[in-house]
Amino acid sequence: SSLFFGAMGAYSQSSGIKSSVEDVETKVDSVLNLMTLEEKVGQMIQYNGSWDLTGPASEVGNKEKEDRLKKGLVGSMLNVLSVEATEKAQRMNMENSRIKIPLIFGYDVIHGYKTIFPVPLGETASWDVDAARESARIAALESVAEGVNWTFSPMIDISRDARWGRIMEGSGEDPYLTSQIAVAKVEGYQGEDLSDPKTIAATAKHFAGYGLAEGGKDYNAVNIGKNELHNIVLPPFKAAADAGVATFMNSFNTIDGIPATGSESLQREILKSEWDWQGFVVSDWGSIAEMIPHGFARDKVHAAEIAVKAGSDMDMEGGAYEAGLEKLVEEGKIDEALIDQAVRRILRVKFKLGLFEDPYRYINEDFAAKVPYQEHREIARDIAKKSIVLLKNETNMLPLKNSVKKIAVIGPLADDKDTPIGNWRAQGEANSAVSVLEGLKNANLDAEITYAKGVTLGEGERSFLFPLKINETDRSGIPDAVAKAKDAEMVIMVLGEDAFQSGEGRSQANIGMAGLQKELLKEVYKVNKNIVLVLMNGRPMEINWSAGNIPAIVEAWQLGTESGNAIADVLTGKYNPSGKLPVSFPRAVGQEPLYYNRMNTGRPSNDQHVTYSHYTDIENGPLYPFGYGLSYTTFEYGDVKLSSSEMNQGGEVTLSVSVTNTGDVKGKEVVQLYLHDLVASIARPIKELKGFKMVELEPGETKEVNFKIDEKMLEFYTAAGKWEAEPGAFDLMVGGNSEELQTVKLNYSK
Ligand code: BGC
Repeated sequence: SSLFFGAMGAYSQSSGIKSSVEDVETKVDSVLNLMTLEEKVGQMIQYNGSWDLTGPASEVGNKEKEDRLKKGLVGSMLNVLSVEATEKAQRMNMENSRIKIPLIFGYDVIHGYKTIFPVPLGETASWDVDAARESARIAALESVAEGVNWTFSPMIDISRDARWGRIMEGSGEDPYLTSQIAVAKVEGYQGEDLSDPKTIAATAKHFAGYGLAEGGKDYNAVNIGKNELHNIVLPPFKAAADAGVATFMNSFNTIDGIPATGSESLQREILKSEWDWQGFVVSDWGSIAEMIPHGFARDKVHAAEIAVKAGSDMDMEGGAYEAGLEKLVEEGKIDEALIDQAVRRILRVKFKLGLFEDPYRYINEDFAAKVPYQEHREIARDIAKKSIVLLKNETNMLPLKNSVKKIAVIGPLADDKDTPIGNWRAQGEANSAVSVLEGLKNANLDAEITYAKGVTLGEGERSFLFPLKINETDRSGIPDAVAKAKDAEMVIMVLGEDAFQSGEGRSQANIGMAGLQKELLKEVYKVNKNIVLVLMNGRPMEINWSAGNIPAIVEAWQLGTESGNAIADVLTGKYNPSGKLPVSFPRAVGQEPLYYNRMNTGRPSNDQHVTYSHYTDIENGPLYPFGYGLSYTTFEYGDVKLSSSEMNQGGEVTLSVSVTNTGDVKGKEVVQLYLHDLVASIARPIKELKGFKMVELEPGETKEVNFKIDEKMLEFYTAAGKWEAEPGAFDLMVGGNSEELQTVKLNYSK
C-alpha cells in the first residue's frame, strides 16, 4: 500500500484542476515506473463483461477473468451491462489489486444511450453539425450517469455500397461531410476537456477502409490503392485525430492483403507518427486473433507480436495479448519499450478522464437523477425532423391538406414502435419509439385516420450472424388494407426495413422492399393512387417502381425515440423538410457501389449521365443523387460569382451566389460547393464536396451565400505522396444537390 500512496502522491496533486499536458505526462510516467511487465500487459487487455458481475461467477472462464481483475491484470471492460456491475468490477480491481489502476469502461453508444436519435446515416442527412454535436453530448451525459467512460463512436467509415449493412452506422459516401460530422461528434462526446464530468472518451472507427469491403459484404477484403486510402478513407480520421479524439479502433478487414489490425503503416506510421496523435488504439472485437484465419499469423502469440509491433495498443476480447505478450518480451521477440508505449497511451486517456481521481467516475445517484430525459426527447424530435428527406412530392400532396378528411395509414412499419430505434441501440428500449400512427394521432388532424398493417415484415430470426429471414407468405391482411385504402382520400404507407436488416453482419444482396411489401403497395395503388410513401430504412433502398409511380416519397430512416412525432411534423408541414441525402440512391442494386465523386473514364461526354461506361439495361446515374432533397418551397439560385478567376499561391478568392425562396413557405436550403481539379498528378474525381452552408429563407427572401476558396480546399494527396494544391484549372460548382450545379472556372498558379 505504500506503493499505492506513492503513486497517488504523484497523480492526485492537481485533483479537480484541468491538468496540463506536462502534468499528465509526469503522472503517466510515475505510474508506469511502478508497474511490472505482467501489470503492463494487463492494461492492454479488454474483457467483454456481459456475465453477471454482481453475483458469484458461475463459469470457469468468468471466474478466471474475475481473478485477473482482482490482480489488476485487466485494463478495460466493455459491455458491462448495469451500473451495479460496473461499480462491482471497478471495486474488484481497485480494492484487491496491487497497482490500483482504474478500469476504463467502454460501450457502443452509437446514436443515443437511452434517448435514441436517428441512426447516424439518417442524422447526417440533416447536414447539421450542431445537431450531430448535440445528440453526442446528450448520449454522453446519459451514459456517464450509468458508468460508461468511453464510447465506440463515431463510426466514420466511408461507405459507398448500400449492400453493406453497416452503412447505417456512418455518415455515407462523402469524406468532407463525414469529416464535419466526425469532428462534431468528438466535440459532443468529449466536450472541451475530458475532465468535465459530463463527457466520455470517443473512438474514431474503424481504422481503416472497413466500409469499402468488396461486394459490400461485411468483413470482406478491401482492395484499394494509396490514392483512395489517402483521399477518400483517411480524411475523416485525420479530422477526428486533429479534434483530439481519445481513441481509435482498428478494423477487421485486410487492405491490399494486410489486416488493418496488423498494419504498421496505418497505425504506427500514419496515425501515430505523421499525425502525431497521442491516444490509444483498441482492436476491433477479436481482430488481433482474427489475423490467424486471415492467414497472416500462425497463432495467438504470433498475432500478438504482429499487432503490438503495428501499434494496436489494446486487445478487445481476443485473448491474443493475454496469451502472448509477456512471453514475447521474455523471449526477446519484442522490446518492452513497445509495451511501455502502448501502456503510456492507455494511462494517458485514463488520467485525462479523471479516473485516477474518481475510479467510479460519476456513478452517482445525484448525477443520474438530474439527467433531463424529457428535454432530451424534445431535442431528439427536433433532430429527427431535420433528418427527414423529401424525395418526391409530385402532386403537392404534402404537406397534408386540411381538406383531406379520411386518411388510411398502412404498412408493417406504420405502427411499429421498435424499428425506429434501429440497430446499435445501446440502452434504448425495445418498442419504445413513437410510431407513425401514434405521431399522426398526436398531431390532432382534422381527419379520420384508419389503419391496417397489411403484411408483416418477418418476426423471424434476429440473431447476430443470421439476420432476419423475411420469408412471408401470409397475404391475409392485404384485403383489409386495400379496403381501407379504397375508402380513404389518401394513403400513408410506411414501408422499408426492419431495424435489424442493417447493422453489423447484415449485408444484403437485395436492397428492395423485403417480403410482401411491394405486393401490398401495388395492391393499394390499384385502388388509390394518392399515396405518400414513408420509408424507414438503414440503407439506400431500391425503390425504382415507387419513384416512378408513387406521387410522394419521404425518406425517414430509423429516426429514434421520437420518430413518429418527427414524421408527423414533416407530413403536416409543421416542419418544412430540409434534409439532403448523404448517399446516392441507386436505380438497381447492380449499380452498387454507387457514388457521386466517381472518376471519369477515358470515354466521358458532356452529359453527366451519358458515358460509355454504363450498363446497357438501365439508365445511368443514381435514382436520387447525393445531396438531394426537396422542400415544401422552392429555391432559385442566382449567378455564381467569383471575386477573381485567378488565384496565386497563398491567395484566396470568394465565391458568392444568391439564393431566393420562390415559394410561399419559409424553408431551409443546404447550399453545396463542389470542386473538380481538371488535370492533376493523380486523376481526380469529377466533383468533390468542399463546403456547404445552410440558409433559412422567408418566402420571397434572398440571401447571398459566400464561400472562401483557398489553397487548402484545392489540396489532395498527390502522386508525390503529399497533401498539396497543384497548379492548373479547377471547376467550382454550386447548387442544391450534387447534380444540379452551376460551374465557374478558377485558375490556380504557383
Ligand atoms: C464492432 C465494433 C464494436 C465492437 C464492440 C465489433 O464487432 O465491429 O464496431 O465497437 O464490436 O461491440
